[in-house]
Amino acid sequence: MRNLTILGATGSIGKNTLNVVEKFPALFGIKALTAGRNIALLAKQIKRFLPELAIVYRESDVFKLKQLLAPNNRTEIMYGEDGYRAAAVHPDVDMVVSAIVGAAGLLPTLAAIDAGKHIALANKETLVMAGDIVMQRAEENNVSILPVDSEHSAIFQCLAGNRKTDLKQILLTASGGPFQNLPADQFKSITPERALAHPTWEMGDKISIDSATLMNKGLEVIEAKHLFDVSHRTIQVVIHPQSIIHSMVSYIDGSVMAQMGTPDMKGAIAYALSFPERLPLNLPVPDFAGIGALTFDAPDVKKFPCLALALSACETGGTLPCVLNAANEVAVDAFLNKRIGFIQIPEVIEHTMENHNSITAPEIDDILLADQWARKTAAQWIVFSEEKGNI
Ligand code: NAD
Ligand code: MG
Repeated sequence: MRNLTILGATGSIGKNTLNVVEKFPALFGIKALTAGRNIALLAKQIKRFLPELAIVYRESDVFKLKQLLAPNNRTEIMYGEDGYRAAAVHPDVDMVVSAIVGAAGLLPTLAAIDAGKHIALANKETLVMAGDIVMQRAEENNVSILPVDSEHSAIFQCLAGNRKTDLKQILLTASGGPFQNLPADQFKSITPERALAHPTWEMGDKISIDSATLMNKGLEVIEAKHLFDVSHRTIQVVIHPQSIIHSMVSYIDGSVMAQMGTPDMKGAIAYALSFPERLPLNLPVPDFAGIGALTFDAPDVKKFPCLALALSACETGGTLPCVLNAANEVAVDAFLNKRIGFIQIPEVIEHTMENHNSITAPEIDDILLADQWARKTAAQWIVFSEEKGNI
């Protein structure tokens, strides 16, 4: 039995993880569940999975959650940073599923690593912000970081059984998002509603917007660089709209390995939870004859400047990827709240990156300071642009 904490249990990845766990009750136990503000769903999950510990974001939700659980509740409820940390380091937990969205996932994931917990990593922002520190601490604590991101799970599977020295390239596939075929001059009119409708994957709001801007692919290049300890030059982004190939790896002899499957996050989640075994999930095998053709294209970084910004941050390293990530979170939030347009998302990020003096080999405190600085700078730029009537 593998005992789990799920950080971000009420999100898209969290719910899919509980779905997998539910299918294999003899293999997995749930010790702790954490949520942000969706306490109604968390209450249902607690009643179903009976964790020892559950965490909410706000203190005021502790009482509300207890009311929802009364009268037979045995789960301890905590809140805020201390709560997330307690869930991450719970003594009986073997593996922590890191599925909080955004920078908020970093510190609990690091705490779990320091406590020697294996990590099933969905929260790519953890590696974007502090990849060197996270991978070093994982090594020091003998912790495995198993990818949940479908592309990274695919790469991980394609690398298995081969020598790292034989690796030539990582071919990171991208669906291209909902606007792959939309002419650039129509990007001005993109609404949050349209951007949230992803063609092949069902995901949380933030990653759906990141997929529409291709920032998600940029963040994934940075994630892959750290996870597989390769140079950014080894990683090439390939547009593949059908999302059947989840990524590929090429070797020095010219051989290419691809991992394929129906686009369903349960595949990658289950593989991370049960590695090195595979679970009888029985997801449908793609109907290749029905699909007919798999197509590929190069990404258009002019049309999707967020990808270019992320690749440049990846190359520079230091605190710049953290700044890119924080500015992106602020910009995406402003877009979802209709304060800025779709085409302003990269403008906010570029402005913030241009004003940052990147620190090389940062410590964790440098990362946290850069994150705060970038949020403030990006938010100020949005207010300034609003005042000037530019947006
Ligand atoms: P989501 O928005 O659906 O869920 C996020 C979860 O985090 C929720 O449980 C929410 O309550 C919690 N949360 C949000 N803000 C928080 C905060 N400040 N403090 C504590 N908890 C907070 O997101 P998602 O789509 O499940 O994505 C989660 C992570 O997994 C992201 O980093 C995303 O990039 C990554 N990921 C998601 C998918 C996918 O298919 N959804 C695929 C690959 C990677
Ligand atoms: Mg992905």
